[in-house]
Amino acid sequence: MIPPIRRLALALAVVGLGAANLALAAAPREQGSVWWQNYRWTKSTLRIMVDLSSSGYTPGIRAANFWSNNTDITFRSTTDHSIADISLFDGNWGDNSWRGLATVWATSTGVITHCHARLNRFYTSAPSGKTKAWRWEGTFSMELGHCLGLDHDATTGSMNGTAMSSGLANAPSSSNVSAINSRY
Ligand SMILES: [Zn+2]
Repeated sequence: MIPPIRRLALALAVVGLGAANLALAAAPREQGSVWWQNYRWTKSTLRIMVDLSSSGYTPGIRAANFWSNNTDITFRSTTDHSIADISLFDGNWGDNSWRGLATVWATSTGVITHCHARLNRFYTSAPSGKTKAWRWEGTFSMELGHCLGLDHDATTGSMNGTAMSSGLANAPSSSNVSAINSRY
């Protein structure tokens, strides 16, 4: 584990986003920014360690592949956590109010050094006409988006928890993709 310099978490709450600012961050975020504080990598090829259960595997891999195949970010898989940039986990953490949680380790200037993207398998509900795996893919996609520096947003994509809860989208929106490509 890379020592946490600043360890900050951004949670996807179970019941939509509402008006709550769910960023548990030390400083107020930039108003209207699509970015989570100023967290960013200084590279675009990231090593990802996948540690997923049998039920979490397919949605987690689909989410990771979307980001890697459709943006200027490239994920390269590793089984060695000590060299991983991002770790993708799932587990049953119980009824703790978060479906997904992203935790970044970052320097004082916001350069991300490590990130965990986690899905809480306790929550299995899906919007009408969608499967649990569909919903989980969206959660993994959102947490990975946070790991790339994106905040929650109002686009019809996976950075918007309401879009997922209503069954509209479980993948990054075109504006999510554009934002990533403008940065990396
Ligand atoms: Zn880790």
